[in-house]
Amino acid sequence: MTTTHDVLIIGGGPAGLSAALALGRARKDVVLCDAGPRRNAAASAMHNFVTRDGTPPQAFRELAREQLAAYPNVSLREASVQAISGGRGDFTVTLKEGTLKVRRVVLCTGMLDEPLALEGAREAWGHSIIQCPYCHGWELKDRPWGYLARPGVEGHLVPFVLQLRGWTREVTVFTNDTVELGPDVRRALESAAVRVVTAPIARLRQRDGQLEQVELRDGATVPCAALFAHPPQRQVEVVALAGVALDDDGFVRVDPMTRETSVPGIYAAGDLTTRMQGAVLAAAAGMHAAAMLNVELTLEHVARGAL
Ligand SMILES: Cc1cc2nc3c(=O)[nH]c(=O)nc-3n(C[C@H](O)[C@H](O)[C@H](O)COP(=O)(O)OP(=O)(O)OC[C@H]3O[C@@H](n4cnc5c(N)ncnc54)[C@H](O)[C@@H]3O)c2cc1C
Repeated sequence: MTTTHDVLIIGGGPAGLSAALALGRARKDVVLCDAGPRRNAAASAMHNFVTRDGTPPQAFRELAREQLAAYPNVSLREASVQAISGGRGDFTVTLKEGTLKVRRVVLCTGMLDEPLALEGAREAWGHSIIQCPYCHGWELKDRPWGYLARPGVEGHLVPFVLQLRGWTREVTVFTNDTVELGPDVRRALESAAVRVVTAPIARLRQRDGQLEQVELRDGATVPCAALFAHPPQRQVEVVALAGVALDDDGFVRVDPMTRETSVPGIYAAGDLTTRMQGAVLAAAAGMHAAAMLNVELTLEHVARGAL
């Protein structure tokens, strides 16, 4: 007879590992599948996670896996989940190596960042092209910083850029000739002594991943030791195949109380649900989803006489 596991967690980043810990400790039969690149793969250290400030991301994952080994009811698999079918209480999950039956699914698959189409960006990504000042701002404080504007981010530009002034006096917004900044935006930036450069960018000059200058097509250069950029993100394929509803920004919609998606029995936690992306936030969301689904799963077990 095929075993039906209680919960499948897809994704072994902070969200998935945290959900696995909570459900493991709640005595549920859990399978966590992880395969593919992790979002912060390029970063040498993870910051702003209390007790883990400065830990290399891979070491963080290894420690979590080591601690999960104490729970024999949690199994960790290096496996890519390719499809999910069925419904609450009876999902069939397709892996490369076969299928699994599970009662609940938690999507913790993160987001994929589109690579920036600028010379020098690949080398500097995750080292000095960064997304979050709380994660890597301290290490680069008091140096010239830039913000790369792009269409679609205008609504978030002002508060994001103004906060950067807390780390450094020298902030430049590069529009790269792709975004028109309105007068209110310009006034707000000016009031905080933030410079705006509209000329198209020719390349990012970097050495061993450390940015030095932004070179403009007119030949001018602007010193820049950290460039903040939020390139478009997309969901991994299995999220689309699961049929869960997305919001207007492409994040998975979840009930704020239960973290259940639009598909009953499928929950989601971590970067794939929000623009507020950070390891500790993802871990908290993983715990939240786990605790919510554990209540109904426990009642289900009681109702069928399994507990
Ligand atoms: C360069 C960079 C540096 C960062 N630095 C920091 C920092 O210092 N501090 C901080 O708090 N945050 C940092 N972040 C943000 C942080 O990495 C994310 O918020 C966090 O990793 C999100 O966790 P998650 O569990 O939601 O997703 P992820 O960590 O992205 O994990 C998702 C996992 O799911 C796997 N997966 C996807 N699809 C499948 C599938 N079909 N089957 C099986 N597995 C699958 C992926 O391979 C991945 O391992 C950084 C981000 C970047 C890009």
